[in-house]
Amino acid sequence: MTVRTGRDVLGIPGPTTIPDEVLGAMHRPAIQIYTGELVDITTSLLDDLRHIFRTDGRTYIYPSNGHGAWEAALTNVLSRGDRILVLESGRFAHNWGEMARMLGVEIETFGGTWRDAVDPAAVEARLKADTEGRIQAILVVQIDTASGVVNDIPAIRAAIDSAGHNALFLVDTIASLACMPYEMDAWKVDVTVSAAQKGLMTPPGLGFVAANKKALAAHETADLRTLYWDWTAREGELHYQKYCGTPPEHLLFGLRAALDILLKEGLEGAWTRHRLLAGATHSAVARWAEGGVLEFNITDPRARSASITTVLVGGGHDAPAIQDYCLEKCNVTLGGGIGDLKGKALRIAHMGYSNAPAVLGMLASVDMALKALKIPHGAGATQAAVDFLAENVPA
Ligand SMILES: *Cc1c(COP(=O)(O)O)cnc(C)c1O
Repeated sequence: MTVRTGRDVLGIPGPTTIPDEVLGAMHRPAIQIYTGELVDITTSLLDDLRHIFRTDGRTYIYPSNGHGAWEAALTNVLSRGDRILVLESGRFAHNWGEMARMLGVEIETFGGTWRDAVDPAAVEARLKADTEGRIQAILVVQIDTASGVVNDIPAIRAAIDSAGHNALFLVDTIASLACMPYEMDAWKVDVTVSAAQKGLMTPPGLGFVAANKKALAAHETADLRTLYWDWTAREGELHYQKYCGTPPEHLLFGLRAALDILLKEGLEGAWTRHRLLAGATHSAVARWAEGGVLEFNITDPRARSASITTVLVGGGHDAPAIQDYCLEKCNVTLGGGIGDLKGKALRIAHMGYSNAPAVLGMLASVDMALKALKIPHGAGATQAAVDFLAENVPA
């Protein structure tokens, strides 16, 4: 017996639900890549990305996923033998750092349990101890999609400043761009990395990087540069040089439609929507937690992210069984724990093209699963989510 026929509800932290307008925009014949419409689309996308990153710096679009954008960021500003500080808070900064290590960069991993945000005071102390200025760059993720934490990027910037340190500041916004405030220039971030398939509602396959003046200056002497990722090569006269080859034109059509949706809502509107949907989710999880089995992975409520909530499932109960029930019975796809949390957590994404009925439906389906699987949980979680929204979304 199931109640699953109907629209798919996708609650994983990427790829996220793709709007019909975006799918429709891609359903067209290929066009030529040298002049005309596609060149105009590229120009408009690079400009709109500046607006979304909140920077006057340069933006680059790569036919790649987020890992490609990571490599683009590293190779454009670093050299073999450089030392970097990787600020851990889950899985993603770690993996970005490992990529740097393979490129020949010395990495120092700093801080990080899976249950807390990066501590800016500790970062400040570590940087103050670097009296010779050996650390060339600092890597951090704004929202870590494994732990569900949000790091305080302006506070980390302030820590770097009060240590008087000159390292480049590189931030991964793959799971946070368009989901919460991000101010590249105001926060003096030198390189920002993002990707298409999370808050930006576009199919996977596009990576984005933004660079400020300080990053472009570092680029001049970086020796990890390769032609494919190289910013200078991508500033060439010819349109295809912007992509180091054939532009991924259908993904660009899709991205154009997605950014039109986003800009129509307004960035601030999208940030607010995510904050509300996260609040609804957190209200539900707090109720479930009263049963003593489920709990928030992130202990400090202020460090719980706007786009993804990681819920630990304890007491020997089977977290994947909750996912299976939601998918098989309700057609709701939820994320599971990854890394150290494999088999022990649920990840509920409230990210991208998502609204109250989608999130309330997801939460209600988890409620059903907990009941059907006889996993102890506090009652009234769906109602708590509804109450939160009704209180915060006035008539
Ligand atoms: C999804 C994600 C990535 C990886 O992006 P891919 O497109 O899968 O390569 C990196 N960082 C964060 C924070 C992410 O959420």
